[in-house]
Amino acid sequence: MADSKRRRGEARGATTDEPHAGAAPDAADAGGAVADSGRTRCGFIALIGAPNVGKSTLINALVGSKVAIVSHKVQTTRALLRGIATADGAQLVFIDTPGIFAPRRRLDRAMVTNAWAGAHDADIAAVLIDATRGLDDEANAILDRLADARRPKILLINKVDLVEKSALLAIASAANERAAFAATFMISALTGDGVADVKNWLAAHVPEGPWHYPEDQITDAPLRQLAAEITREKLYLRLHQELPYQSTVETDVWKELKDGSTRIEQTIYVERESQRKIVLGKGGQTIKAIGAEARREIADMVEAPVHLFLFVKVRERWSEDPERYREMGLDFPKA
Ligand code: GDP
Ligand code: MG
Repeated sequence: MADSKRRRGEARGATTDEPHAGAAPDAADAGGAVADSGRTRCGFIALIGAPNVGKSTLINALVGSKVAIVSHKVQTTRALLRGIATADGAQLVFIDTPGIFAPRRRLDRAMVTNAWAGAHDADIAAVLIDATRGLDDEANAILDRLADARRPKILLINKVDLVEKSALLAIASAANERAAFAATFMISALTGDGVADVKNWLAAHVPEGPWHYPEDQITDAPLRQLAAEITREKLYLRLHQELPYQSTVETDVWKELKDGSTRIEQTIYVERESQRKIVLGKGGQTIKAIGAEARREIADMVEAPVHLFLFVKVRERWSEDPERYREMGLDFPKA
């Protein structure tokens, strides 16, 4: 990584004659906007709920459509994935926990333990219940376990677009009898109904403190970046002679498919048409080989089949664009 940073630095070094100050995502912004109290707030919120209650959909609604990838591999990964939103000077970091709560297999038990650890580390636990299912066994198991947790917890009754209002009230009162929720919300993660209320409540209730992430960051999705790095590495292994430094790879689409595989689309950016031809190779041979190698390695990393689609585009002077650095998780060097 240090090596690739250095190489990018050199590439950019050739074009430092123009000032980029002002356009750069300034690290100083990480302190965040200031709330009425004059202090920033920041907190971690664990989303807890059975599979399919809508945790991933809700994270996307809270954070914005761009962060769909937060749901990546949530059922199998040991890492808890995060989506980041801001509201009213508060930074809210949502943790999408694996949604299995009646574990039978050893692996499932391990993931549940991990999910609860995530919940306990969080400042606030948000329990999701699927309004179409009400308090079924899984929901009850979650409520019982959470009942004596010290953290503040809120109840989110999701999918209200599918259910009569009277049924919602019954679920809300039954759930509140089992565990002491600080607040109850009726929402539709799908339509966005009620989502802003949740966000505002959380913004007012997370602890005071500095922001953990830069203001414009919406996920800490490292896999996306790692996948781009892998493709970039394959590109350079093959073409380091012809293609010294002026290219980068970005992951544009990362989509978990129903069959358990992942569709990934990446763009390789080069600075000149001549370089594009080199990357494509005769009859597309070169990019095909790069894609095959990268696909294998990315599939190893995510432990799932991967469909990798590579595109090659010419983008002049990308190395002067601060946005590209942010996408790669790098600071934009000012000098
Ligand atoms: P997760 O397993 O808890 O992460 O659940 P997902 O976010 O993957 O959602 C499971 C399914 O429920 C998907 O088909 C969503 O489109 C659907 N869903 C989620 N929220 C809502 C909602 O508010 N209303 C409706 N009608 N469907 C929803
Ligand atoms: Mg999910």
